[in-house]
Amino acid sequence: MREYDDWGLATRGIRAGQIRTAEGEQSEPIFATSSFVFKNAAEAAARFSGDEPGNIYSRFTNPTVRIFEQRLAALEGGKWCVATSSGMSAILAVCMGLLQAGDYIVSSRSVFGTTTVLFNKYLSKAGIETTFVPLTDLPAWEAAIRPETKFLYLETPSNPLTEVADITALAELAHSRGALLLVDNCLCTPALQRPLELGADVVIHSATKYLDGQGRCMGGAVVGRAKTVGEEVFGFLRSAGPTMSPFNAWVFLKGLETLKLRMQAHSENAMALANWLQEHPAVAKVHYPGLTSHPQHDLSNRQQLTAGGIVSFEVNGGQAAAWRLIDATRLISITANLGDTKSTITHPATTTHGRLSDEEKQLSGISEGLIRIAVGLENIDDLKRDIETGLERA
Ligand SMILES: *Cc1c(COP(=O)(O)O)cnc(C)c1O
Repeated sequence: MREYDDWGLATRGIRAGQIRTAEGEQSEPIFATSSFVFKNAAEAAARFSGDEPGNIYSRFTNPTVRIFEQRLAALEGGKWCVATSSGMSAILAVCMGLLQAGDYIVSSRSVFGTTTVLFNKYLSKAGIETTFVPLTDLPAWEAAIRPETKFLYLETPSNPLTEVADITALAELAHSRGALLLVDNCLCTPALQRPLELGADVVIHSATKYLDGQGRCMGGAVVGRAKTVGEEVFGFLRSAGPTMSPFNAWVFLKGLETLKLRMQAHSENAMALANWLQEHPAVAKVHYPGLTSHPQHDLSNRQQLTAGGIVSFEVNGGQAAAWRLIDATRLISITANLGDTKSTITHPATTTHGRLSDEEKQLSGISEGLIRIAVGLENIDDLKRDIETGLERA
């Protein structure tokens, strides 16, 4: 049993993984050093051969980064965690660790745009093929699995439409066909959803988003139950070097300490905003799992603690109306990032999903009047007032 096994989530986020040096510091130290010194040649040899655990070189062993890895593993309920330089390098590391030429991936169609590019353009060079299926269509997942399928890959809720996938059902399906289930848990974080406890094998994070929580640093992580994360994904990190910097790890550690509180507050603000938008005459449709009108509302209630911070909605009048609304806001930032205390607003059809063809947009439900808000932690009345001005112009 590990020390934190009987700790609650808030305690894990604040305390798990901490080591104290002889200086007795209260906050975690930043180990700004590229290498570590050995007592003698024999110790150096033992560290390099792996006979003795310990620090060697910060590409793959840094104490500040290790505290972050252990804390995130404790939050997700995972055994292994490898921190990386960005969310995308976490996805690359997991692919390079788990896959080989001739392998096959089945992925949700509604994943982060750059993830689609990584699978389609770069993994294909190594002879790894990906098929994309609709996130909530279980028979489509089942039909797409082949004997060479190594894993199923998804994000839930999806961005920007907040569709919710049944993690337990997809984990059972994957395992029955000898595959793994990988979940990008960026939008919920372990404060709201713990995929490993629902049967998933590997969780992926862009720490850049809610784990940081204030839009400062780039980072990512892979968390798993299986030793493959500790051996294969770690091995790729050690050999290829998409390493998280100790400073960024420290910022993310501070982020994890308030994660539970922040995610509850993001959800509360988003729920209030979704309810208000739903009643607004200028709004055609609202997408938010917390609304009873959401198609997977019950599933989301079972699977997530609260519905999260992403709300999207459609205005009549297409792109012109959506752009007028966005340009009329004064408080909310026009940027595609999410997971920040500062609310952000985007027009997916011309930004994050701008590379899709008209047909692909239609298939993915990205309409010209769709607007996404990553709801921050400002006062809800100020956010409503800002959007109200926009809705009048739309
Ligand atoms: C941002 C994001 C990523 C990529 O992370 P970076 O830190 O930007 O590399 C991956 N998945 C999701 C769901 C994201 O939102």
